[in-house]
This record gives sequence, C-alpha cells and structure tokens, in this order.
Amino acid sequence: MQTKLLINGQLVEGQGEPYAVYNPSLGEVLVHIPEACTAQVDAAVQAADQAFDSWSQTPPKERAQLLLKLADRIEAEAEHLARLESQNCGKPYQAALNDEIPAIADVFRFFAGASRCLSGSAGGEYLPGHTSMIRRDPLGVVASIAPWNYPLMMVAWKLAPALAAGNCVVLKPSEQTPLTALALAAIMAELFPAGVVNVLFGRGANVGEPLVNHPKVRLVSLTGSVATGSRIISSTASSVKRTHMELGGKAPVLIFDDADIDAAVEGIRAFGFYNAGQDCTAACRLYVQQGVYEQFVSKLGEAVGSLRMGLQDDPETELGPLITREHLERVEGFVERAKAQPHIRVITGGKRGPGPGFFFEPTVLADARQDDEIVQREVFGPVLSITPFTDEAQALAYANDSDYGLASSVWTRDVGRANRLAARLQYGCTWVNTHFMLVSEMPHGGMKQSGYGKDMSMYGLEDYTCVRHVMFKH
Ligand code: NAD
Repeated sequence: MQTKLLINGQLVEGQGEPYAVYNPSLGEVLVHIPEACTAQVDAAVQAADQAFDSWSQTPPKERAQLLLKLADRIEAEAEHLARLESQNCGKPYQAALNDEIPAIADVFRFFAGASRCLSGSAGGEYLPGHTSMIRRDPLGVVASIAPWNYPLMMVAWKLAPALAAGNCVVLKPSEQTPLTALALAAIMAELFPAGVVNVLFGRGANVGEPLVNHPKVRLVSLTGSVATGSRIISSTASSVKRTHMELGGKAPVLIFDDADIDAAVEGIRAFGFYNAGQDCTAACRLYVQQGVYEQFVSKLGEAVGSLRMGLQDDPETELGPLITREHLERVEGFVERAKAQPHIRVITGGKRGPGPGFFFEPTVLADARQDDEIVQREVFGPVLSITPFTDEAQALAYANDSDYGLASSVWTRDVGRANRLAARLQYGCTWVNTHFMLVSEMPHGGMKQSGYGKDMSMYGLEDYTCVRHVMFKH
C-alpha cells in the first residue's frame, strides 16, 4: 500500500506522528501512516512555489495533456483505486467502481478542456490612446483541504481546476481517508513536473493549520464542515488570503400533493441514503404536503426498510457504515435526542447496526417540527426527517429557514410552481423531480453557511484565477 507523501516530485515517508487509518466496515485499523512534520509542510509549499513560475507559463495545451493522462491512469487503475476507496470508507465497491471512478476521470477531462478555453472578457480602447485587456491568471500556491466522504472525488474537484488554471497545489486529504489520494500521488509523481502537485498526510491541527497559515499559500480551498471553514477564514484573515469554501448542507426536499409519489419515494430512497447519507447534498430534510403525507410516509418507510446494509465487497450492499466510531456516536446522539421528543415517530431504523463496524440503520423520522434539532442541524448520516406542510408558501418558508444553502429539490407536476420555487429557494442548486445529480459542466457550491466558491464548471476554473487588467499606451 502506498503511504508516502509527495513532496517536490519525490515520494517520502512522513516524519510526524503515526496516525491510524481504519476500515469502518470492520472497525479495524488498516494501516498506521506517519503524518507530515512541519518542515515537510514547509518543503511542500516551497516546492509548489518554485514550480509555479514554469507551470503557470506552460501552455494550456500541455497542462491539458497531463490532466488527460491522469484521467487515463485513473481509469486504467480503476479497480485498485475503487478497492482502496471502498476499504477505507466502507462504501460498496461496486458504487466506488461504477459511479465514482468514471465521474472522477470525467472531472479531470472536463478541466483539461476547460484550461484551453479560459479567457479574459474584454479588449478595447476605454481611454483615448490606450488599449486595455482583461486577463485571468493563476494565483500561485493553492492549499487544498479535502473531507472524507468522497475522498478521491474531492481530490479531483480540488486538483483539476487548480492545476488546469496554472496553479501549483499542496493537497491534504482527510486523515481518515488518505489512501486513494496517496495512491494518486504515486501516479502524479510520474506525470507532473516536480513541485506542481504535492500531497501531504495528517490531521487538521498538525498539518492543515501550518499549511493554511504558510505565508506562500495564496488560496485555501476547503471542502469540509462549517466549523473548520470558519476557523480557516479567521486564521487567514490577517494574511488576507483568498478562500474557497464548500461546507455543510441540509437539503430541503419539497414534495407536493401532485408529485409522482412513487418516483419521489424511489428517488429519496436512493438520494437520501447514497454513501450512507454522508453527503452534503443528501435528500435529508423532507417536507411533504398534507394531502399525501401519510401515504408518502408509509411508502417511504417500506422502501427505506428494504435498503441492504452490509460489507463493502458484497455486491448486494447498498449502504455501508459511517466513517468513524465518533461519527457513529454523533449520528446516534441526534437520533436519540429526536426519539426523546414525544411528537416524533420512528418509521424505520433508529439504532446501530450489527457487528463491530460503524453501522447505523437507515432511519426515517416522521412528524418532525421545523425547529427540531433533527430538522435544523446537519446529521451527515442515513437519517431523514419528514415534516408536513399545508401550502406552497409554508413549504418555501420552511425550506429557506436554515443556516445552510447548498442543495434543494422540488417534486411536483406543476411546471409553474417548480419555476416559482426554483427562483426563490436560497440554495446553490435546486433540482426538480430529482435530487443529487451532478455533472462536470455545471457549478456546485453553496450559499449562506454552506460557503462560497464553485466546484466544477467554468466557474470552478475561474475561482482559481485572478482577474487582471493590462493597459497599453499607444
Ligand atoms: P472537517 O471539517 O472535519 O474536515 C475537513 C478537512 O479539514 C480534513 O482534511 C481535516 O483534516 C481538515 N481540517 C480540520 N481542521 C483544520 C484546520 N484547523 N486547519 C486546516 N485543516 C483542517 O470535515 P469532514 O468531517 O472531513 O467532512 C464532513 C463535512 O464536509 C460535512 O460538513 C459536509 O457537509 C462537508 N462536505 C461539503 C461538501 C460540499 O461540496 N459543500 C462536500 C463534501 C463534504
């Protein structure tokens, strides 16, 4: 197993404390990996800084060719990468192989093409005798910090636009799920010039903080929790660093009386529990109109009760464990507090799964009220709340009454209503009659405490550049 860091083109052992990486399905340690020490964090940033001059001047076509080669290698090593990902996250191997790997390769391919299409928006004479142009130029060293829920996908979302735009990167995957990022580091060591991309391993306090606070880092890109985002924003304020924040979510799902109820049930079964609900866009905060409420609750309970929870290698498994014991306890805490409320009905699930792994049963909690903790806070597990509503105005008010603003969906056959709501929902994305679907061409990112900055799309590429004005006197 490849557990070395990538610094300045070399694979090197971490010189810090060893940290245990688990298989959450079995609750067993897979490997201990030494963290990067502070001197290695510094060496990685210095290497990226030195590589920047040459990489930023490398023609987009050549940068694109390397990203395309990386996509090819990811596909060529799909089974190995999917196996590592599923062991480290407990997620079903088939899902890692068939859903995630193709999407990851596609992100690198999209940004390979996008790098050749980046353009400034004006060229003209705005002052007599002078010509102005607008350029979009890379920023320098980008510190990219990733979460544990889709480890390799998050690496792709972070690396591809940053490198495509001509930046050099120091990446820190989550300390809980570093294995695919480290495997990719070995491939990137073969492909990219030394220093262009560096990969560290370690916890937030030991490695993340020195990285974020390094004076040569020009942009910090985080996908993670609101707490970590807010901490990074505070700590980078004094050095006026740019930040790109993709934080938590609590997606509202509005299901109207006129919706195709069976399609909605099928959709929520899939999009509420994919990755065991450990997804920032998971369909987890349901609002269902009164006319179909009881019918929907009963059908959804039955559908969710049929989800198969199991080990990652079992082809029948639809739902794996939670990522850590601490996270299992956190999710359980939310559900126990919800169950203690007399008005909440447990429709299915509600407790830990069997075995030594960190499993929690897929859970549906009905009759939740708008100000309940289970409705307001991000659980990040296989747990849905359902709240009844009377009319469109109430549904909209409930949906927008949240600190989060990442994703939302509306389920209705009324096109006018779908458009009215899509225009007023305060979320980075609104799906109509579906949920969860992402494509490389479209932007992904939040509003409110879900953060700012976009992943994927041309907007994602632009976020890793600076708008510059160049003026010529004739
Ligand atoms: P987290 O915030 O605990 O950790 C994210 C990363 O930040 C990890 O690599 C961690 O080591 C690092 N980190 C922690 N403290 C740090 C510090 N002080 N300085 C620098 N780095 C630090 O989040 P998590 O538990 O790994 O991931 C789950 C969260 O991520 C959820 O809130 C989820 O909604 C969010 N998420 C958001 C998106 C999105 O696109 N908006 C996607 C996936 C996950």
